[in-house]
Amino acid sequence: GYRKGGYHAARPGDRFAGGRFVAQRKLGWGNFSTVWLAYDTLLSRFVALKIQKSARDYAHAALHEIELLSAAAKGDPTNSKCVIQLLDHFKHAGPNGQHVCLVTEFLGDSLLRLIRYNRSKGIGLSRVREICRSVLVALDYLHRELGIIHTDLKPENVLLVSTINPSKDPARAGFAPILEKPEGNQYNGTTISFSEKMLKVRARRAVVKISRRRESLGGVTMEMEKERGLDGISMKCKIVDFGNACWADQQNAGEIQTRQYRAPEVIIGSGYSYSADMWSFACLVFELATGEMLFTPKVCQGCSEDEDHLALMMETLGKMPKKIACSGTRSKDYFNRYGDLKRIRRLKFWPLERVLAEKYNFPAPDASGLADFLRPILDFAPENRPTATECLKHSWLN
Ligand code: ADP
Ligand code: MG
Repeated sequence: GYRKGGYHAARPGDRFAGGRFVAQRKLGWGNFSTVWLAYDTLLSRFVALKIQKSARDYAHAALHEIELLSAAAKGDPTNSKCVIQLLDHFKHAGPNGQHVCLVTEFLGDSLLRLIRYNRSKGIGLSRVREICRSVLVALDYLHRELGIIHTDLKPENVLLVSTINPSKDPARAGFAPILEKPEGNQYNGTTISFSEKMLKVRARRAVVKISRRRESLGGVTMEMEKERGLDGISMKCKIVDFGNACWADQQNAGEIQTRQYRAPEVIIGSGYSYSADMWSFACLVFELATGEMLFTPKVCQGCSEDEDHLALMMETLGKMPKKIACSGTRSKDYFNRYGDLKRIRRLKFWPLERVLAEKYNFPAPDASGLADFLRPILDFAPENRPTATECLKHSWLN
């Protein structure tokens, strides 16, 4: 946490980059960073400030993220490819060390919050389709035009786009920026400060004002939308968090992706490419549609999380072809020479379409439509999976 080499403890009113950016409130955090809403006093707009942990490896990762996001910004001058836009970057010296900071456009809530907001019941197929289109536009751009594999696609790393950007007209959106440090503020990173309370009050007032005007607030925060439901939110979204992304021809990590979104070739160690992102994409789509993760592997008696994961995949998708099962550097840990799992013998086959219909009560046409879309992306053979470009043409989306 907040120690040497760790997070920088920012407070509302703190200034960055020679005074240009003023911290407003914390938006989120990850393993590598804290992310703050900040006000850019030079260009009079709100931005997001990602403040990286200071230790050398984190700084290195941030510089790598800057390199990839710069390439993405350069190839997308109209900012229409659904990838978060990097605006600036600088170093900030704090008590815990030097922190690399990324300035990006300010976006709304993550898909994780959207899923939770809907009490894990799925968000409706028309919204799922809308989100699919944005994510596929981003993946198509990263894969085909830039040669980048994201490697960590999951709900936390896809953010909704705010339809009202408070930066364009802060007064109208009810957001007056905090420019001064509140006096007597004993903020220590855990208690809510005076200014944060004020911001919440202002935010609440803003909702009332905005709903009166029947405008949508995008996803500035989901709480603000509670009274009105999600109907006003545009489902355009953007991919964020390029901290683990890589150029396809310069891979250095063997193990990529967050567990539940990890592709089979990564587990068995048979090499990966863009198609690993497509696997995660399919897991993400299932989760949006049902509110639950597609695969939640656990350590079980006598078997590892990896083995349980492979078993779950085969129960939903059928047996992994022997040729693939035995093709990885770690195949021998899991499979015998016949391509059967060594320690998990009995699999209960429950195919995707039936899971959607029987477990999640999808009407038959919805279940078969979604399964038709997802099934090819969940092919055990990475080279058989459709590309993002091909998925965009699928009839389910059109
Ligand atoms: P990490 O590399 O530490 O995981 P992320 O880039 O994923 O950092 O950001 C962490 C969290 O901060 C995100 O999950 C999201 O909730 C929030 N966040 C990041 N960027 C923005 C942004 N531009 N606008 C709004 N919130 C953001
Ligand atoms: Mg993240």
